[in-house]
Amino acid sequence: MKEDFLHYIWQHQYFDKTHLSTTAGEPVQMLRTGFYNTDAGPDFKEALLQIGEVEWSGSVEVHLKASDWYCHQHQQDLKYDQVVLHVVWEADKPVLHIDGTPVPTLELKGRINLALLHTYEQLQQSRHAVPCAPFWPSINEITKTMMLERALVERLEARGEEVLKFYTTGGNDWEQAAYGVLLRGFGFKTNQQAFELLAKALPLTVVRRHRHNLLQVEALLLGQAGFLTAPEDDYTLQLQKEYNFLSHKYGLQPNALQRHQWNFLRMRPANFPTLRLAQLAALLHRYQSLFSGIVEADSIKQYEALFRVPVSGYWQEHYMPGRSAKVVQQSMGIGSAHNLIINVAVPLLAAYAIHNGNKLYLDKAVSLLELVKEETNKVTRLYEELGWKTKNAAGSQAALGLYKYYCQPVNCMRCAIGNKIMKQNSATA
Ligand code: SF4
Repeated sequence: MKEDFLHYIWQHQYFDKTHLSTTAGEPVQMLRTGFYNTDAGPDFKEALLQIGEVEWSGSVEVHLKASDWYCHQHQQDLKYDQVVLHVVWEADKPVLHIDGTPVPTLELKGRINLALLHTYEQLQQSRHAVPCAPFWPSINEITKTMMLERALVERLEARGEEVLKFYTTGGNDWEQAAYGVLLRGFGFKTNQQAFELLAKALPLTVVRRHRHNLLQVEALLLGQAGFLTAPEDDYTLQLQKEYNFLSHKYGLQPNALQRHQWNFLRMRPANFPTLRLAQLAALLHRYQSLFSGIVEADSIKQYEALFRVPVSGYWQEHYMPGRSAKVVQQSMGIGSAHNLIINVAVPLLAAYAIHNGNKLYLDKAVSLLELVKEETNKVTRLYEELGWKTKNAAGSQAALGLYKYYCQPVNCMRCAIGNKIMKQNSATA
């Protein structure tokens, strides 16, 4: 058993309250259980209880053993001086406040429906990738949908918070944030780290100064990425000359990345990082304010067009310096554009919503995801095997959120589906 089970039991008051009393023998009556606290400090705040003749307002702390109070050093922590009830599975030791007065303690052992405990253990010890898989068919669609919606919002908020780090480290500049997120997004799965290094090696301020000249933007990106060390033809020779001039002018670390840091393995030429860099150059060349473009676009077509900027003539016919492409491709494919909508536009919208406290941008992010094709990966397949098929990227992002924050860490007691399973099983006990 873990503490999360006792949190759940306390929160839902799923225990036998007959002749309830503290370990000191004083009768206990619950008037308000308090709200679950996810920050530092006691587990439940603003509880209201009657212990003996006195009504107490304060916090409730939950532990498996009473002695955990000392293991966690609460006796020295003023935050825990507000605790009015210590709820434990086993009261193995008397516990005192800082001033030496006893902390009223309630022992739950023997008061919990064993069927609940059994269900909890089934979830905790499950060998399934989604631990509740055996129970899944018994859960109604409304509960699943509600939980997935919650997981989606939590995922978007978490992704928004990540973007806010780019925003603050970039001097509270949304264009800096967009640049960081965009470059990471352009790495897709296989070259994310290299693109992140490139974002550090090539300041946006330098790119901005040469934004109007596509050749120079290409030179900066490909040069810093390490692809212009041995020119293959007239065009790449021209790029190299530009790069040598600009890197010297701005004191850039020459060829900050090396070719070997880029992954080309098992990749179609259309996804080669060299072509991605050319697409990125076209995008940075096109938009003075990419961030405004992302915030202001208001249809899926506009978002697709935003990322599908035609590359320069050379890159329409080449996928690497000196290597001709068999098929002329003006801009990235629709699937890649959708990937950037999911991994660049949506997190930026979420960050903007959090920063401004404006939920409309979060709604916009969700609506956008609903118009984008779902992602297929090992996580979405897990839920698909349970019969839950994602219909769009909102669904696949929800699945990723549910898995990461709930199913993988077996956080079933904080999950609406897990709560339903527990409730159903306590009702049938
Ligand atoms: S967290 Fe929720 S969905 Fe995931 S296994 Fe537990 S009960 Fe099921």
